[in-house]
Amino acid sequence: MAAEAAISEGVRVELYDGMASVGRKFLLAGKGGLNLTHSEPAEGFLARYGPRRAAIEPLVAAFGPEALREWARGLGVETFVGTSGRVFPSDLKAAPLLRAWLRRLRRDGVNFHVRHRWGGWDQTGALRFATLHGVRLVHADAVVLALGGGSWPRFGSDGRWVSLLAGRGVSIEPLRPANCGFDVNWSRHIRTRFAGHPVKPVVVAGITPEGVEFRRQGEFVVTETGIEGGVIYGVSAWLRDEILAKGMVLIRLDLAPDRDLPRLIKDLSRPRGSRSMASHLQRRAGIEGVKAALLREFMVKQDLTDLERLGATIKSLPVPLIASRPLEEAISTAGGIAFEGLDERLMLRALPGVFCAGEMLDWEAPTGGYLLTACFASGRVAGFGATAWISAMRNPA
Ligand SMILES: Cc1cc2nc3c(=O)[nH]c(=O)nc-3n(C[C@H](O)[C@H](O)[C@H](O)COP(=O)(O)OP(=O)(O)OC[C@H]3O[C@@H](n4cnc5c(N)ncnc54)[C@H](O)[C@@H]3O)c2cc1C
Repeated sequence: MAAEAAISEGVRVELYDGMASVGRKFLLAGKGGLNLTHSEPAEGFLARYGPRRAAIEPLVAAFGPEALREWARGLGVETFVGTSGRVFPSDLKAAPLLRAWLRRLRRDGVNFHVRHRWGGWDQTGALRFATLHGVRLVHADAVVLALGGGSWPRFGSDGRWVSLLAGRGVSIEPLRPANCGFDVNWSRHIRTRFAGHPVKPVVVAGITPEGVEFRRQGEFVVTETGIEGGVIYGVSAWLRDEILAKGMVLIRLDLAPDRDLPRLIKDLSRPRGSRSMASHLQRRAGIEGVKAALLREFMVKQDLTDLERLGATIKSLPVPLIASRPLEEAISTAGGIAFEGLDERLMLRALPGVFCAGEMLDWEAPTGGYLLTACFASGRVAGFGATAWISAMRNPA
């Protein structure tokens, strides 16, 4: 996006990527349908960027969800709003969009150089690239770095830029997993019998590090090591920060979100007859399979004979989370280059002429298209910023 903005201003653009082809993470995002952006009103949309809202707002104001949809249309890709308000390409694929985009960039004059891994600057200020044919040095009037975060490193973004820029005086918040799963100390029974099972519908409740209660309904998946999936990703920033501060976090699961506690207790109080407790729970409260296993994993055994306490536990089952899954497995990255070290054109104050965009900046957002939207928007600002810098250098006032 930065290249597109810059070439539209008539400057020469050379684009380098360490991988054998560009846009691999973008293609990976396409595996989940490529959720490009979200259709919710601006106020709610911007709130998704939490404490970084003020930094993201001007970027998205210049190139927001509607502009992004228009841009995709310009590449021959129509979009639609799904039932959740999320926006996808009509074919739910990333490859046709990326292909059309690369074709247009090449036509407009962007030169692509793949298998060029950037490794900092030499003493003359040239960019150093490791290539199949050894080190290549390149001088540029302005540089846009859009090196991504640290998740899924085999798709190209490995976060190694952190030490390169920190060594140049750039202030960087430590990279942390965002939209990630969490470890639970499962029994062997859960690990071997229920890994891969979805838990739905379920409400995940807890308390944010700021002390605010949250309740989110959705679904998640039990994994061999813990839990992951939509409803967990949505609250993962809070859970991660709480674990960082306290070493663990307790969430509470409502395994029967479709009925309130009095109704649940009433249902459970109906005669059981000769049925086992397991089939009574299944029949009267819809608790079976993985939900029944979770209940047995974390409930106090004596509660099975006290229906009021059993009901209360089903509505608020405590599950301790002991660690976030590693950054490499996360959907996205929190932390990165601090906005305080950037000007409004996303140029590094410590390195004039070097601009930064995308996930390498210090912001995070839930899934829902907010990630790609802010990456695109920041890329445009950085690309136009770089060309403005070049023209100011060439035509000093
Ligand atoms: C499984 C998955 C699904 C996702 N689905 C969605 C979704 O549906 N919607 C959404 O909004 N977001 C989604 N995301 C997040 C989204 O893909 C990222 O936020 C986005 O791609 C980040 O863009 P970026 O340009 O900042 O970085 P990246 O897309 O990571 O690109 C960075 C590029 O820099 C290159 N690079 C890195 N270091 C160097 C170096 N030293 N030298 C040369 N090149 C280098 C990399 O090879 C890479 O091509 C998903 C992420 C994952 C992992």
